[in-house]
Amino acid sequence: NKRVKIKNLLTEDFLNKEVSAMGWVRTKRSNKNVSFIALNDGSTIKNFQVVADPNQIDDEILKKCNTGACIKVRGKVVASQGAGQQAELLASGIEILGEADPEKYPLQPKKHSLEFLREIAHLRVRTNTFGAVFRVRHALAYAVHKYFNDKGFFYIHTPIITASDAEGAGETFKVTTFDLKNPPLDEKGNIDFKQDFFERETNLTVSGQLEGELAAMGLADIYTFGPTFRAENSNTTRHLAEFWMIEPEMAFYDAEDNQDLAEDFLKYVINYALENCMDDLEFLNKRAEDEESTKKADQRAEMGLLDRLKFVVDNKFERLSYTEAIDILRNSNPNKKKKFQYLIESWGADLQSEHERYLVEKHFKKPVILTDYPKEIKAFYMRQNDDGKTVAAMDILFPGIGEIVGGSQREERLDKLTQRMEEMDIPTEEMWWYLDTRKFGSTPHAGFGLGFERLVLFVTGMGNIRDVIAFPRTPGNAEF
Ligand code: ATP
Ligand code: MG
Ligand code: MG
Ligand code: MG
Repeated sequence: NKRVKIKNLLTEDFLNKEVSAMGWVRTKRSNKNVSFIALNDGSTIKNFQVVADPNQIDDEILKKCNTGACIKVRGKVVASQGAGQQAELLASGIEILGEADPEKYPLQPKKHSLEFLREIAHLRVRTNTFGAVFRVRHALAYAVHKYFNDKGFFYIHTPIITASDAEGAGETFKVTTFDLKNPPLDEKGNIDFKQDFFERETNLTVSGQLEGELAAMGLADIYTFGPTFRAENSNTTRHLAEFWMIEPEMAFYDAEDNQDLAEDFLKYVINYALENCMDDLEFLNKRAEDEESTKKADQRAEMGLLDRLKFVVDNKFERLSYTEAIDILRNSNPNKKKKFQYLIESWGADLQSEHERYLVEKHFKKPVILTDYPKEIKAFYMRQNDDGKTVAAMDILFPGIGEIVGGSQREERLDKLTQRMEEMDIPTEEMWWYLDTRKFGSTPHAGFGLGFERLVLFVTGMGNIRDVIAFPRTPGNAEF
C-alpha cells in the first residue's frame, strides 16, 4: 500500500484502514510488551504514534528504530487509547529505510540552541522549530502569489545578473567569467570587462525594481518575487547577503494608493498564515513564550506571537511623515541614551532600527508607515515633493523588526528625474532605457519592496533572520 502523509493520517479519513507511513523517528519508548515510536514526516508538526508489538516486529528491526532513523511502517490506523491524539498506527511491519547511529546522530531528542542548529543547517529541518518555520514560510510565499494573482497583477521575472546596481542600495557581488588570477587587461592596465561574457562589468541584482518599473509601464500591475544579493558587511539579525524580495510596481498609483496596497497586502498574508498554519503557529507561539521568559529584554514580549499577528491584521497602521517622527523622537529620548538622541539631533539623518522600533513598540504600539523622507537619504527615483526637501517615500515599520517595507511613488517627470540623477552623479546615458519610460507615455506610478525573510521573521516570532531561510548566506557562510 501507498504512503499516506501523517497530516492526512491524523484526519478521520483513514481510521481502521491499512496504510503505510514513512518518516523519521523522533523518539522511541519501549518496555517488554510494546514499543511506542513517535514518527514525523515533515507534513505536520504533529508526530504520529506507531505502536509496535515485539511479538510481531523483529527485535533487530525494533532496535534500529532509534532517533533519526528513517523507517517505513505498514499497519492499521486505530483510534488512540492515550489522551491527546485521535489516531495511532498499529504496526504489522517495519522496514528500515535509513539507519542513524545513535552515538553519532547530532539531533538527539533534547533542546538544542538555535546557534548550534545553525551549524547543522543540513539537518535542522528535522526539528519541530524549523519544520514549523519552513511550513509557515511556504504558506506565506503561496499567499503572496495568491494575493497578487487575485488582484490581477502579473508575476514578472527580473534578471539576476545585471549591469546596474539599481540605486546603490547595497554593496554588490560581482559576476565574471574571468580567471581572476589572470584577467585580460586593457591599455591602461585595468581589467578589460569588454572581453567578458556580457562585454561589460556585471553584478548580482540588489533589487528588481527598475526592471519592474519597465514592466509596469505596459502591464500596469506587476510584481517580482525573487532572490536579491547584497554584500552587507553588517552582521545583524535582520540582514542576509542573499534574501528574497517581493516588489510590486503599479502604474496609475500615487503614494497613498501605494500605502493602502502595502497595508492591505501585509494584513492579507499574515491573516493567511493565521488561517492556514495554526498548528505551527501555536507551536511557535509557545516557543516564543519560552524564549521570551528567559530573555526578558525582548521588547516584543508585551504580546504573545499569536496576539501580535491578530493585532496587526485588525488595526489600522499609523501613518505619519518623517518630520513628525523626528519630532516625536526628539521629545522622547528613552533611557536618556546619548546615542539615541544624537542620531536624531539633526533633521535629515536616516533612522536607525532602534528609532524605528521605538516608534512602533513604545510610542504608537502598532505598525507605522513613515512617509516623506529627506531626499538625501533616499534613492534617485523617488518622486520629489513640492517642498524641495523631501520625496514621496514610505517605509513600513513593524514591531521587533523595524523596517519591513521600503517603497515610494516614483518620479515620472523626465526633467525632475534627470536633474536628480545629475545631482547624484548617476550617468543618464547609461540608463537611457529607464528614462525612455518617462519620455514616452509616462504616468504616475509607485511600488514597494518587502524583504520576504523579514516577513517570515515577524510571522514566526523567530529572532534571527538566519533562522527563517533554509540555508542562510551571511559573511563567511556559504558552505551549503
Ligand atoms: P535596511 O535599512 O534594513 O538595511 P534597506 O533600506 O537597505 O533596509 P531596501 O533597499 O529599502 O532596504 O530594500 C527593501 C526591503 O528589503 C527592506 O525594507 C527590507 O525588508 C529588505 N531588506 C533589505 N536589505 C536586506 C537584507 N540584507 N536582508 C534581508 N532583507 C533585506
Ligand atoms: Mg540596507
Ligand atoms: Mg532602510
Ligand atoms: Mg529601505
